[in-house]
Amino acid sequence: MNASPASSDGAITLHRNDLPDGLTFNGSVAVDTETMGLKPHRDRLCLVQLSAGDGTAHLVQIIPPSLGGKGYDCPNLKKVLADPAITKIMHFARFDVAILQHALGITVTPTVCTKIAARLVRTFTDRHGLAALCRDMLGVELSKQQQTSDWGAKDLKPEQLAYAASDVLYLHALWAKMDALLEREGRRELAQACFDFLPARARLDILGYEDPDIFSHRA
Ligand code: MN
Repeated sequence: MNASPASSDGAITLHRNDLPDGLTFNGSVAVDTETMGLKPHRDRLCLVQLSAGDGTAHLVQIIPPSLGGKGYDCPNLKKVLADPAITKIMHFARFDVAILQHALGITVTPTVCTKIAARLVRTFTDRHGLAALCRDMLGVELSKQQQTSDWGAKDLKPEQLAYAASDVLYLHALWAKMDALLEREGRRELAQACFDFLPARARLDILGYEDPDIFSHRA
């Protein structure tokens, strides 16, 4: 049923409901998600994007039963995301780890996060968004035009797919730059400790401990 992709233009392949059998990732995979909004308890997971860092992206559309899909029943996708032998490269992993944990019931691990890394080493700026980092560090211009579009639609538009893919296509290159900076600044071990904490941070967020944060001095 999942054997043939819904669409593919060579660089971007859209799969409905799950990854196909036999599609594997070696060592690392870039991951991002698109949702109906920013509240995991309220907003459903619509799309999970993956890239091996080779210029191609696999997009998995999570289609709810109300639209004739299999909902969160996606064993192949869950296996990749929870595989301890595959490092997940993300930007603002805190959100994606939380929504994937909440929606799919999996612990996404191990992970690295380019936003945490940027905060640890690029202390000369407060611009740590993916678009700013891709521009500054890779010379790549990302369009954020489709960011707030309707990801719950049954048929996603080509410009939505292109946008969604662009959020994972450059993460390997960005992480390589960040990793070198973490090494240069002697913050790799601290970054690793932060990454290791992400599943617990996600659990805290899901439980409602994000505001005020448990680390906050505020009462
Ligand atoms: Mn995204």
